[in-house]
Amino acid sequence: MSGKVLILGGTAEARALAAELHDDGTPVISSLAGRVARPRLPEGDVRIGGFGGADKLADWLREHDIAAVVDATHPFAERISASAAQAAPAAQIPIVRLERPGWTAQPGDDWRRVNDLDEAAAAITEDRVFLTSGRQGLPAFAGLARPWFLIRCVDPPEPPLPPKHQVLLDRGPYDLEGERALMERHGIEVLVTKDSGGDHTAPKLQAARERGIPVIVVDRPARPDMPIVTTVDAARAWLS
Ligand code: NAP
Repeated sequence: MSGKVLILGGTAEARALAAELHDDGTPVISSLAGRVARPRLPEGDVRIGGFGGADKLADWLREHDIAAVVDATHPFAERISASAAQAAPAAQIPIVRLERPGWTAQPGDDWRRVNDLDEAAAAITEDRVFLTSGRQGLPAFAGLARPWFLIRCVDPPEPPLPPKHQVLLDRGPYDLEGERALMERHGIEVLVTKDSGGDHTAPKLQAARERGIPVIVVDRPARPDMPIVTTVDAARAWLS
């Protein structure tokens, strides 16, 4: 194709697609929000930071000779997806969403599905919580005085935080053995997660299953209307 592919990234799938396009010699620019202090950088060109909203993103697409946009941002990154869904058609550039499928419970699982982090906080009835829903949503749990939280996130969280907690700075992928040991060591009684999908952070679900503990799963937000593919291969097929 003539022109470049813009990948809106921040996910493993975005990095994989960038690597494949780069290896093929397709000009690709990956865009990252700049939220993480030391991001894993994709292959090919990378730009970092917000665009300044949908209109500015449309201008940026026109100015940078972008031929196609792949929105491969995280399933919970609502604002950038909404912005891209508006900007790409405005700039008359085709756009596709690359989104991995969500997780599904297995028979016997005790999953509590909720709509957002406030509902997740309200659904906690246990005393020892493994909180893996990310740094940005922690204020939703700050008012819970009774439970103790093991908070796992990539960068140090900022207040407000729940009064009883321990922070574990780490980043996936995680393995089952490690997740089992972590939950055992901290006596975890409930797991809180977003429905991120994918393999990189899924072992915690199996560890919770084996432990027989409930999982509070935050459902994905509604998505803007655009074509969607679920694999890197399908994104490449769409691009070609
Ligand atoms: P968000 O709420 O949708 O985005 C907030 C603002 O950050 C956007 O309006 C946009 O600024 C900028 N932005 C977000 N992603 C961008 C990107 N890839 N390139 C350039 N600007 C971007 O997103 P978020 O939930 O804060 O997530 C930020 C990034 O982290 C996303 O790229 C996402 O893929 C990744 N991530 C998010 C989660 C999560 O749970 N939300 C988990 C893992 C990774 P402007 O309006 O100024 O353009």
